[in-house]
Amino acid sequence: MAACDSKTNIPEYERTNINSKPFHVDSFRTQWLKRLHPSHYSYEQPDQDEFDANFAKEMGIDEDTMSDLKSICRQRKKKQDQKLSLKCNKNRHEHYADELERVTSERKPEAVENLIPQGDVLLTINIYYPAVFDRFNYTRPHMTFLLTGSHTLAELRDAICCVSDLQVSGEFSNNPDMVPDFVSKDHYKSAFFYFEGVFYDDMRFPECRDLSATTIEWAKTRNFPLFTQGKMENTRFVDLKVKVGYPYLYCHQGDCEHLVIITDIRLMHRNDCLDKKNYPLLIHKDRIDTHKCAVCHVYIGRWYTTNDQFAPSDPCLFCDKCFRMLHYDTEGNKLGHFLAYPYIDRGAFN
Ligand SMILES: [Zn+2]
Ligand SMILES: [Zn+2]
Repeated sequence: MAACDSKTNIPEYERTNINSKPFHVDSFRTQWLKRLHPSHYSYEQPDQDEFDANFAKEMGIDEDTMSDLKSICRQRKKKQDQKLSLKCNKNRHEHYADELERVTSERKPEAVENLIPQGDVLLTINIYYPAVFDRFNYTRPHMTFLLTGSHTLAELRDAICCVSDLQVSGEFSNNPDMVPDFVSKDHYKSAFFYFEGVFYDDMRFPECRDLSATTIEWAKTRNFPLFTQGKMENTRFVDLKVKVGYPYLYCHQGDCEHLVIITDIRLMHRNDCLDKKNYPLLIHKDRIDTHKCAVCHVYIGRWYTTNDQFAPSDPCLFCDKCFRMLHYDTEGNKLGHFLAYPYIDRGAFN
């Protein structure tokens, strides 16, 4: 593979089995379209008899063997489906896979304008937990999405849920009912992606700042290769130059950093979900342990306190019910001295 000319925009492997060399997504798409027969990426169902005849020819088998094979496969499929439907203790992943299959497989949109154009590309994009989480940082993706080449980076950004977008900062022990509804995402809208020397800033809102400017300036003074800037909302995935399998960056809330790894880029197929409205399509989500209330051990923590005479530890995590029962009288008056902060559990999205 290494012998290919990198100008051809066909992904070559820079490091075997790890990542490809950089290539331009749209040029890659064009190369495929040039080489394939339109019937290969058309959404039209191929004629079944013609398909069977071609299949038999390619496999070097005769008509009788082909029809035997077909009936055996059908029976096996039936048996397997029965077995699966009888299995009642399906795990969460199996349930989710069933549901995803039901909702998306070969799904055509109701309105023609929502049909993803033939010959578009489909990307598999993995978003990792932010680097501040101690476990699973670099081993398991938090979320895996499918997006088409015509989606923008901003559409990916809006699909990513990260607990740091939901933090409310402040001390509320004197007025626990005053915790505001707004969350960090409403206040700090700046964010960027980084791919192949380019920072793509989210500049959709007037209060957005190009967070990457400081980094670019810093890099200039340190003799790094020149970094450039783009806008997330104006950049589609087909516009990108990327390496498949290579870790890139998503940064938001100032310093919440996530690795972003594109693991696959291919042409859309008629069996894919063809309805634009279902994208970005979440195909995997990791589940992490939630932090439970230190008193009841049942509910997810909603508050943490410090300098708290009622608490078994410092800081200490409480659900809303236990927090209020322990720290306020029936009229809602604060009892004793402590500081209280709203807490959003990172497993809140499970
Ligand atoms: Zn984050
Ligand atoms: Zn509790």
